[in-house]
Amino acid sequence: MKLLQIPDGLKTKALEIADELGDVVISYESCYGACDIKEDEAKRLGCDKIIHYGHSKMIDTDIPVEYVEHREKYDPTNALKKLDIKFDKIGLISAVQFLDSLKVAKKVLGERAVIGGQVLGCDVSNAEKIAMNVDCFLFIGSGKFHAIGVALKTGKPVYILNVERDRIEEVDVRLFEKQKIAAQVLARDAKVFGILVSTKPGQMNIKLAKEIKEKLKPKKSYILSMDEIKPEKLLGIKVDAYINTACPRIAIENRTDFKKPILNPDEL
Ligand code: SF4
Repeated sequence: MKLLQIPDGLKTKALEIADELGDVVISYESCYGACDIKEDEAKRLGCDKIIHYGHSKMIDTDIPVEYVEHREKYDPTNALKKLDIKFDKIGLISAVQFLDSLKVAKKVLGERAVIGGQVLGCDVSNAEKIAMNVDCFLFIGSGKFHAIGVALKTGKPVYILNVERDRIEEVDVRLFEKQKIAAQVLARDAKVFGILVSTKPGQMNIKLAKEIKEKLKPKKSYILSMDEIKPEKLLGIKVDAYINTACPRIAIENRTDFKKPILNPDEL
């Protein structure tokens, strides 16, 4: 028996996917990314393998994991014909589902476009690699999650080809930058820190947490572990600020949901 993990956005198709894959138990726990392998759940259920649907491989685990990438068919030609970007060189990036659309976009844009490839919310190295050769980025996909990560890391303008609306939108990260600076200023006066560690296999970084604990001395700090890091789990804890060693996006998009300043290690 295998455990089938499906990202939340595809859960409505879970039964069809299960029919294709055969004898599986479908996990209805949240699944945020390839970092979120439910090893313990699989072991407790007596499953000898995990099928992780929708994401590309990120980590090795004790239990064998088969990553099944999910690709969407989207033709960006129409939207790109209306492209009105003032920049000359455009870096093309996408999430795994729309990687096939990058080649089509390159054909439409010709010499103006440079293909970067897949980006994750926590790993935009494919964008960083071509950042010196492009003036801006065009992300093909849905939602702003990946595009915000690229804009914050590269400092370049980022546009989204929103596949649901079939149109191009610009990403504005100024609010996130301001929130980061405010958190840094507030954390400067903190006397006691909570260092957050996630137990999700691809997010767990206890080594970094211990290093940060050393670095913060003589200030006092505690290492706090949990599977999913959520602001409500931290209510009432007597620390002045948090350092997040888990998914970096927790401290970026959800920063203002935490009642105390929260910083990623590179912001500390
Ligand atoms: S660590 Fe965060 S951004 Fe990276 S794959 Fe996991 S959920 Fe996505």
